[in-house]
Amino acid sequence: MGKGVFMYNLIKELFPFCRSITGQGVRDTLSTISKYIPIEIVEVKSGTKVLDWIVPLEWNIREAWVKNSSGKKVIDFNKSNLHILNYSIPMQAEMSLEQLRDHIYTIPEKPDWIPYRTSYHDENWGFCMTHNDFLELEDDKYKINIDSTLKKGVLSYGEFFIEGNIPNEVLITTHICHPSMANDNLSGISVAVALAEYLSKRENYYSYRFLFIPGTIGSITWLSKNREKVGQIEHGLVLTLLGDSSNFNYKKSRKGNQMIDKIVENCLKNNYKSYGIIDFYPYGYDERQFCSPGFDLPVGRLSRACHGEFEEYHTSGDNLDFVNEKNLDESLHLIKKIVNTIEGNFYFNNLFPYGEPQLGKRGLFKKVGGESKSKSFEMALLWVLNQSDSTKCLLDISDISGISFEVVKKAAEELESAGLIEKI
Ligand code: ZN
Repeated sequence: MGKGVFMYNLIKELFPFCRSITGQGVRDTLSTISKYIPIEIVEVKSGTKVLDWIVPLEWNIREAWVKNSSGKKVIDFNKSNLHILNYSIPMQAEMSLEQLRDHIYTIPEKPDWIPYRTSYHDENWGFCMTHNDFLELEDDKYKINIDSTLKKGVLSYGEFFIEGNIPNEVLITTHICHPSMANDNLSGISVAVALAEYLSKRENYYSYRFLFIPGTIGSITWLSKNREKVGQIEHGLVLTLLGDSSNFNYKKSRKGNQMIDKIVENCLKNNYKSYGIIDFYPYGYDERQFCSPGFDLPVGRLSRACHGEFEEYHTSGDNLDFVNEKNLDESLHLIKKIVNTIEGNFYFNNLFPYGEPQLGKRGLFKKVGGESKSKSFEMALLWVLNQSDSTKCLLDISDISGISFEVVKKAAEELESAGLIEKI
């Protein structure tokens, strides 16, 4: 199962925290992540201007409930942190069901699930509950208590940098602002942590920058503070929704023809029968900010399911049963393939471009012809030799030939050590 168990257990460990775009839940999440990888935790004060936005007040919550006239809690934040409208202002009141109703969110079509709702930018308060429980509420006087605070504080995010042989960077980002839901967003966090662990234990050609950031305001804050660094980003991936059992979906960068777009498509094509490639559109996760026209970074988004397109999305149905070790492991495996393609993709020049160089006498062709096992490798040798005129990288050659990148890369390595091609 590889790292699947580790990733699933990390999701379980992070699941209970009441995350939001700021506050203790984010801090607890970052300090849990830092048990596994040494992230730097950055704090930016409320009120700081970041691009066209302002870092909001910090939100914290201790308790929230609604009691009926006999003192029974009919909604209780302690049972599920989805019960509170995220960023609810503090509230102590007594009211009729009629008045309370305006502040209750349910999903009538999915009556057993609690919805996840937020109100970051409008001062509001509210509760989320299953539609079935809502129907049980009687005409009564209800006591409301939301013990939350909205005060000057900080927005926190985590950053982890792994220095490679070159300063050019691969950016890996994932959002960390959702309360108890497993696929959105804990699967992205756990896969990113496992990937960071893997990369930090080996030597890499590229440098890698991991961001664990609250959605939207976090990427805007990071971009605002790091404008001079974005030019270093050569490839980027937003990771999210990686624990469910859907096929993979890749959303292209804004330009749509960046190397990362070609690499992910190549890895998907060579490893999966079914997958989705989605053209960029200005909605979704933090790719919206990285691909805003001023930055226009080569950043795509990798997920399994797509947001809003699965029933459990933003509900209590996105729980620990909705994700599993196998799916997480498969996601990590694909991302490692993507990273290894990024790392191994070079341009070469054929040093014997006049006629085919004789491969047999260099021990590169099998002695007995017609062996089907080595056929694709031998074809890869011919493809690499034929196309290595400094205009095509190994990924292009894999695309043109239909031979997987790994085999093309192996062929190039053997041709290079036989002195037939030269890295540019
Ligand atoms: Zn979400």
